[in-house]
Amino acid sequence: MKAYDGMYIGGSWRPAAGTDTISVVNPADEQVIATVPAGTAEDVDAAVRAARAALPGWAATPPAGRAAYITALRDLLVARTDEIAETVTAELGAPIALSQRVHVGLPVMVAGSYAELAVTYPFEEKLGNSAVLMEPVGVVGAITPWNYPLHQIVAKVAPALAAGCTIVVKPAEDTPLTARLFAELVHETGLPAGVFNLVTGLGPVAGQALAEHEDVDLVSFTGSTAVGRRIGAIAGAAVKRVALELGGKSANVILPSADLAKAVKVGVANVMSNSGQTCSAWTRMLVHTDQYDEAVELAKAAVAAYAAGDPHDPANRLGPLVNAKQRTRVLGYLEKGVADGARVVAGGPEAPHPTGYYVAPTVFADVTPDMTIAQEEIFGPVVSLLRYEDEEDALRIANGTVYGLAGAVWAGDENEAVAFARRMDTGQVDINGGRFNVVAPFGGHKQSGVGRELGAHGLTEYLQTKSLQL
Ligand code: NAD
Repeated sequence: MKAYDGMYIGGSWRPAAGTDTISVVNPADEQVIATVPAGTAEDVDAAVRAARAALPGWAATPPAGRAAYITALRDLLVARTDEIAETVTAELGAPIALSQRVHVGLPVMVAGSYAELAVTYPFEEKLGNSAVLMEPVGVVGAITPWNYPLHQIVAKVAPALAAGCTIVVKPAEDTPLTARLFAELVHETGLPAGVFNLVTGLGPVAGQALAEHEDVDLVSFTGSTAVGRRIGAIAGAAVKRVALELGGKSANVILPSADLAKAVKVGVANVMSNSGQTCSAWTRMLVHTDQYDEAVELAKAAVAAYAAGDPHDPANRLGPLVNAKQRTRVLGYLEKGVADGARVVAGGPEAPHPTGYYVAPTVFADVTPDMTIAQEEIFGPVVSLLRYEDEEDALRIANGTVYGLAGAVWAGDENEAVAFARRMDTGQVDINGGRFNVVAPFGGHKQSGVGRELGAHGLTEYLQTKSLQL
């Protein structure tokens, strides 16, 4: 057990203002592995002041100079892959191969994309007799969740740095060790003091203080829709900018002409990855009624490949959930699904291990669109199979939730799938298993959020315009 001290503020690790701590628990064995300081409004204030003081110098640094720091950061992420992956696995429980490939690999690509964008993005545009300048928004308050602990931080810090903003990050309380390690790497790049700051702490204390701080110009939040709503209200009242990346309940629409076996297999893999703790997971699989029974059998077979257990054992493709509260929440949804008449065809509420916050990979059949498990975000390794009668019915079901973050469409012909995807009310759709693209905009329609992350679209969230009429 290691007791970490300090917050990264103004270019160095400073003692926290208070004495409260947060315990970090390894979800695979339920042991406390570390404590970190629980920051207060005082720590947040010190961090915001440091970010404000650093802003003029950083905003005036030419984009190529800013890019050089982002490149250095990317290179350090690559060099320290093993240590970061071990840290993610220790506090999140992700299988070690996933931690290496996705939890470190994805932020490496995102950081690389922003190093490039910083030098290629046109920060000035000519419009008739005007010169339009894209200037940094200012001081950013970033509040991040635990499910992709490094990615969620890099997806905010890299564009903020590229844009010329300074930033204060408040990471999730379950995964502060990855965030601390990231701060150490930022320090190693020699980034000017105060450009990046880290305050660990509880959401309703440190997170809220950051969202409410009058000297923060943009609040960038990723997390639950419930907290996002509060943060949006705080930002609205203060007339400050806000970006919200929230929950999802995405549909995986398998049209009758699709390769059913492939669509079901990839669809199950998409949900099981990261133990189902992915906001954009396709948790609702929509299958034509004539192919439904076959799809159920295919899903049962596919889920059998997801052994749950010790994340360091390469045989296991499923780790635990992040904490006891999430497990209780997910088990509650399993009970609710059964009570509402859905049929468990694989997995179910029985714990696969006596210790660790494991939930068995679960497949629900006979799920109808109005059931709670088809409407609310479960955030666990649970996939629901729904029937549709025809394309219009499939579209109605796909669009029939308050969310609109992601989705998938499968068809024999790409054009057929694209035509369906155009009618979906959602932020991104993978066609016939199209790969994740780190420069494509990521973000939600409806209650899945406001604003976009990644690529040039993500960069513009950190910029504001000034028009000069010449
Ligand atoms: P959460 O909303 O509870 O917490 C997210 C962050 O907000 C944490 O850092 C937390 O400390 C902080 N927070 C909590 N209460 C706060 C408050 N009152 N004021 C300010 N900050 C506060 O969510 P979670 O449980 O950490 O993450 C799971 C949720 O995040 C899921 O709903 C998931 O869909 C969503 N998510 C969305 C995306 C996306 O890009 N759309 C990505 C990942 C996760």
